[in-house]
Amino acid sequence: MRIGLGFDAHRFVSGRPLVLGGVDIPHSAGLLGHSDADVLTHAIMDALLGAAALGDIGRHFPDTDPAYRGVSSLILLGKVAELLRGKGLSPVNLDAVVIAQKPALSPFIPAMEEKVARVLDMPSGCVNIKATTTEGMGFTGREEGISAAAVALLQNGSKS
Ligand code: MG
Repeated sequence: MRIGLGFDAHRFVSGRPLVLGGVDIPHSAGLLGHSDADVLTHAIMDALLGAAALGDIGRHFPDTDPAYRGVSSLILLGKVAELLRGKGLSPVNLDAVVIAQKPALSPFIPAMEEKVARVLDMPSGCVNIKATTTEGMGFTGREEGISAAAVALLQNGSKS
């Protein structure tokens, strides 16, 4: 068994869609980034890559590469799944938290869990996503952006 940690943050800008866990969330602002800036999926990818000792997403999908401009982060997550398979590893479970003052995310969490689980070929009961605020404190509390953290457990071989 191998454990990994991921963290990411992106700033809000107007005129961009807000995508979290591959789900489009209605909001007055979206997140700035080279890809779709899906901060949750980025944290999950970094947790998976970390558990596999494969570095981080910046190493595999550099933001200077035009191929990744505007790309859905779920596509990148699928590429991470391929990298894991290439090392003979498979995800056991994932736990993640999105830190956002607004919007309220709880209605969208089941859809996020389902999308992430499907891309990783995991049972949906093995992907847990949570959301919290920071009670108005810090950059997320001031609604300057959203951050996310994730942990992932991997096992050798395919799942039983
Ligand atoms: Mg990112």
